[in-house]
Amino acid sequence: MNNSLSARDQQVNWHPYTQMQTAPPPIGIMRGEGAVLYAEDGREYIDAVSSWWVNIHGHAHPHIAERVSQQLKTLEHVIFAGFTHAPAVELSERLLALLPQNQAKVFYTDNGSTAVEVALKMALQYWYNQGVPRTKIIAFEGSYHGDTFGAMSVSERSIFTRPFQQYLFDVEFLPVPVPGHEEQTIAQLEKLLQQDDMAAFIFEPLVLGTAGMVMYSPEVLDKLMALCRSKGVLVIADEVMTGFGRTGKRFACDHVSQQPDLMCFSKGITGGTMALGVTTASQAIYVSFLSDDKTKALFHGHSYTANPVACAAALASLDLVEKNAFLEDLERISTSHAAFAQSLSGKSGIKQIRQTGTILAIEFEVGHTTYFHSLRDQLYNLALENGVLLRPLGNIVYVLPPYCISAAQLERVYGVIEQMRLLVGQEFQA
Ligand SMILES: *Cc1c(COP(=O)(O)O)cnc(C)c1O
Repeated sequence: MNNSLSARDQQVNWHPYTQMQTAPPPIGIMRGEGAVLYAEDGREYIDAVSSWWVNIHGHAHPHIAERVSQQLKTLEHVIFAGFTHAPAVELSERLLALLPQNQAKVFYTDNGSTAVEVALKMALQYWYNQGVPRTKIIAFEGSYHGDTFGAMSVSERSIFTRPFQQYLFDVEFLPVPVPGHEEQTIAQLEKLLQQDDMAAFIFEPLVLGTAGMVMYSPEVLDKLMALCRSKGVLVIADEVMTGFGRTGKRFACDHVSQQPDLMCFSKGITGGTMALGVTTASQAIYVSFLSDDKTKALFHGHSYTANPVACAAALASLDLVEKNAFLEDLERISTSHAAFAQSLSGKSGIKQIRQTGTILAIEFEVGHTTYFHSLRDQLYNLALENGVLLRPLGNIVYVLPPYCISAAQLERVYGVIEQMRLLVGQEFQA
């Protein structure tokens, strides 16, 4: 027992978002296949959150594994300044072909936070290079764009950011235009846009993930984007979570007619296989960095920029994303979620049910709650005991599965949510 992965881990590892003193021992996972994780104690878990929203095609996908292993034997890495390689060239070509038509250039980093940092730097330096004093960023209240300092600055000020508060730059926050509150957000944006120092607007399109899968309509997003663009304010779509099928289309921006100036990707891009971040930019952004003056260049890069193995994983994932079967899976999961949502509606213990494509969120009625509410841990444990990995955000439980999840596996996940509803009913109806 003391030789278990779990026990050895506790001697040496420090985990993310985890109070190490009180957290239960981590579950040692030996292997994954499709939607299922296999633990060292013989238990199995349906990965209903795609291992933090990254694993879109299921675990240990044979096509991705094959492509990655070929790349490892061909070229594992090469410096990306002054050099290039086939996986990066092909990935950029194929990605741009899928994105809104104005996206012209691809910049590689390692994760979602750095994809956001680069987008912010590109937006701010776009104005700087032209000598235009536009310095303010607009973001949504409740948003999450990552854990590095720039990304934290444009995110909701919360328990995540409190110790660093004084180091975060000022941002203009807008309320999320949730159904019924669209006009308020539009009016506030119009007012903000009367100031002439607005540089860019960054947002999670259609779904604010970490905020608790808070959703708003493509129609209002289209209006907000159009308003910004009419004043020259750059529009940054952070598709780190929504990219690669989550919202029922390949990209959240496929739901709107306006085109963003900058886009950020990471989570699903390699199918959850390797760490990779991507920022894409319009030609106008790119051109603003061109000069005989070297200081106008983008001085940003990482040792592993455009790592060929990560790019190969992304190419293998794109092979699957480009297929019609991919869109059919999105449709199948969306339809299944909608039917389950329908079956829950009107039942006790439920405050709100929200769905965008393959993302289903159920907010339980529990009065006043926070992220630390003990109910969250009860719900998390209840799911694990039933062989399902769900990570509630406070009193909100969401399903965000790999697209290979079967109908039977989805039914098991829904069954656990029904049990959660009953548990919430016992705890809070008295
Ligand atoms: C997860 C996430 C990020 C940060 O990505 P990391 O790879 O975890 O750094 C940024 N934006 C959004 C919308 C995310 O969901």
